[in-house]
Amino acid sequence: MTPARDLAVVGGGIVGLGVALAAARRGMGVVLLERDELGGVATQVSGAIVRTHYMHAADARLALEGLASFERFDDEVGGDAGFQRTGFAHVPHPEEVHDGRFARRVAMLRDVGVQTPVLDGRELADVAPGLAADGITAAAWEPRSGYADPARTTTALAAAARRAGVDLRPGTPVEALTLNRERVSGVRLGDGRLAAGAVAMCCGAWAVPLARGAGLELPIRSTAAIIARFDREPAPLVAGVDVPSGVYFRPDGDRAAIVGRRDWSDRPVAHPDGPLPSVDAAFAADARARTARRVPAATGWRPAGGRSGPLDMTPDARPLLGPTAVEGLWLSVGWSGTGFKTGVSAGRALAAWMMDGAPPHADYGDLRPDRAQVRTTGVRTPH
Ligand SMILES: Cc1cc2nc3c(=O)[nH]c(=O)nc-3n(C[C@H](O)[C@H](O)[C@H](O)COP(=O)(O)OP(=O)(O)OC[C@H]3O[C@@H](n4cnc5c(N)ncnc54)[C@H](O)[C@@H]3O)c2cc1C
Repeated sequence: MTPARDLAVVGGGIVGLGVALAAARRGMGVVLLERDELGGVATQVSGAIVRTHYMHAADARLALEGLASFERFDDEVGGDAGFQRTGFAHVPHPEEVHDGRFARRVAMLRDVGVQTPVLDGRELADVAPGLAADGITAAAWEPRSGYADPARTTTALAAAARRAGVDLRPGTPVEALTLNRERVSGVRLGDGRLAAGAVAMCCGAWAVPLARGAGLELPIRSTAAIIARFDREPAPLVAGVDVPSGVYFRPDGDRAAIVGRRDWSDRPVAHPDGPLPSVDAAFAADARARTARRVPAATGWRPAGGRSGPLDMTPDARPLLGPTAVEGLWLSVGWSGTGFKTGVSAGRALAAWMMDGAPPHADYGDLRPDRAQVRTTGVRTPH
């Protein structure tokens, strides 16, 4: 019989590892249950861009704390996440500049503490060589941002979690949550029950059927993100989002780059386990043509495959983070395609919320699952 744990974390991607590490460091007895190997599914194929341009303060604050964690990863987590500071340019739609939305957003970001000067085209070309700046009247520049290496990040996080005392259990699917009246009492595994005082679901869209069994209907849709990879000649390249062209891009070392299409994350897929769309010649050609509008050298990039992975989209494309109507059941899901950069910071926030009874910053209350029509059906699968 396994002794009861303070916390069972479901899911061993960056989100689950981040929660498990932070909770263990705060003194909780933690078990992490992962159905396959540690390292996650979406996490392993992530673009892993670490930037801080968001629409809302809570999301920007989590991203800023995430960026700081990547900058001091060895001190904070231990090991090397492969973080590369490239700088990041957010080029908005001209309409947002014209009607003042962009300026208001940048003011909000600066209130949060994001270092983000607004540059015109000529100034942007100075700090971001290789970008075509014509037509840009205002872009948000982030000198600290860049990208990390997903595999190295999760390997380091898992090692840190192990050192902190987390019982890491790959190859352990959670079949259901177990309940005792209105509160969670643990999880059901293939070989029996595991008792836990609290459960944190950190398993993306796979959380939907588990939550349903506990009487919660999560507003999460399964979609997919797809990224094309290109070989290129060495030349300076920053990370960026170009809203008018609908792409995001970043270097992948000196001789490669990756590009994703922003609108692809809205296309539904039947199940997070797939089948998912894959990179074909048409996608690569389109991604390259769009990128070339902002990065002229992209016309010479040579397609070199790509990757795709599941997304857990919520109606407002913001995560469900915090407690639920089922006592002891916590969520960190619905990351909607942006949860890599915040894996460490959101883990810390959720652990603090569990231990202190309140989120570590009032903003984070905006992300509470009950904002997003998480319906309590009252219909529970008997276990
Ligand atoms: C192609 C792509 C590009 C992206 N680019 C970026 C980017 O540039 N920057 C950024 O910040 N974010 C990006 N994202 C988003 C980011 O990668 C995800 O939000 C993040 O990785 C989600 O982490 P996770 O741990 O929730 O999910 P996952 O990594 O999918 O991990 C969930 C884990 O739960 C496990 N699991 C599921 N069901 C069970 C069960 N019943 N029992 C036990 N375990 C279970 C799964 O096996 C899996 O390992 C991108 C995503 C994709 C797909």
